[in-house]
Amino acid sequence: MTSPVERIFVECPKCGHAFIDWCRPSINTELDDFDEDYIREAMTATCPKCGHVIEL
Ligand SMILES: [Zn+2]
Repeated sequence: MTSPVERIFVECPKCGHAFIDWCRPSINTELDDFDEDYIREAMTATCPKCGHVIEL
């Protein structure tokens, strides 16, 4: 089962900027037909200040 979107608090390890992002803790790619870009976006957070991509 694919988890609902969760709002998470992220602190950028590069610049220290704290922001709210979202993720899906688990994605069932067999049952739910998400494209790869969506999955990538769901599993990472991008710092709005410096653009650093954080793996969740
Ligand atoms: Zn940053």
